[in-house]
Amino acid sequence: MEKNKVYFWFIILFSFFSIYPESNIPFQKGYIRFSDLKKNFPDLVLTMDSSILKIEIKHKSKFGFQFLLDSKFFSFKGLIEPLAKPAIYIKNELYLPKEIVENIFIHLIETEISYRFSDTELIFHKEENKISAETIPVKYIIIDPGHGGKDPGAIAVNGEYEKTYTLKIARILKKFLKEKFPKTKIRLTRKKDEYMSLEDRALIANKKLNKSKDVLFISLHCNSTQTPENSPTGFEIYYLAQNSSIENARESKVISARLVDTNRDQKILNIQSGMMSSSIQRKSILLAKNIDSKLKENLTDSLISRGVKRNNFHVLRGSIMPSVLIELGFITNQRDVKMLEEKSVQIKLAKGIAEGIKLYANTKN
Ligand SMILES: [Zn+2]
Repeated sequence: MEKNKVYFWFIILFSFFSIYPESNIPFQKGYIRFSDLKKNFPDLVLTMDSSILKIEIKHKSKFGFQFLLDSKFFSFKGLIEPLAKPAIYIKNELYLPKEIVENIFIHLIETEISYRFSDTELIFHKEENKISAETIPVKYIIIDPGHGGKDPGAIAVNGEYEKTYTLKIARILKKFLKEKFPKTKIRLTRKKDEYMSLEDRALIANKKLNKSKDVLFISLHCNSTQTPENSPTGFEIYYLAQNSSIENARESKVISARLVDTNRDQKILNIQSGMMSSSIQRKSILLAKNIDSKLKENLTDSLISRGVKRNNFHVLRGSIMPSVLIELGFITNQRDVKMLEEKSVQIKLAKGIAEGIKLYANTKN
């Protein structure tokens, strides 16, 4: 009995510490030293332009925080934010005010961090990886980041390209799916900013079919409108149909003009003009609906659903497997862009798509 009791307390203590492995960084002169922060987050990189005393802090990202020493402002992605007190630099050491540390946690570091500031120190812990691994009856998932290279796609209100958003979110989705479904192989049609024809994207996916019939194809795009001053908002999910629905016909004309490659070879034209398999179509519709319902659940306060729609997308036409095309949001809409830039929203997108795939995989037969 006594032995069991000790064992019980050991388990309680052990699980407490493994759930909350807290760390702390004491304030120095009321600041957090960059070197202390970097010990805990080694991917943080500091660059300094000493001629103008300009500092930039990055974390595995293209964008970083920029500020001038002794200035009460910092900038992130072109936006200027005020600081209660400026960062200072003494004896080769950068001292950061709390706001900058907080913004590093919110915007730069991809893992979830819980933190608080006491009077004397910063207390934080990195959330344990909450993705629980599962097995689904799908062998391959092909993620297709739309556009790339000489084909930038649509242009966002902030001047960023659609191809940049699709690649960024595709990478996050790939990482998420790999952790969630370790037995399923996850592939990207393009890994970097390179041009790739729609045919090549479909061919990459179709090659996997030789190895297994259980392949899914998910193409990622961002929506845009020609009248950005009153841009629609939200995400949409498309599956392939021989004929676009009437309500999409006008819209799809605009989108197709961007998507369709005019130099298609005969082999592809044959696939594209060929018969459509009713079972693959049925599965694509199921996949689209399940992803839509799970995205809705996950994105409640960030992006609205514009529903599941049918369309005659050529990138889907070339792939002879269940396929969907997700328009992640309108990059001509200020709020959608802000959402797509948010790390937490990017994770929610990945989570919603993963849960949708799981729901599909468990009901497809
Ligand atoms: Zn696109």
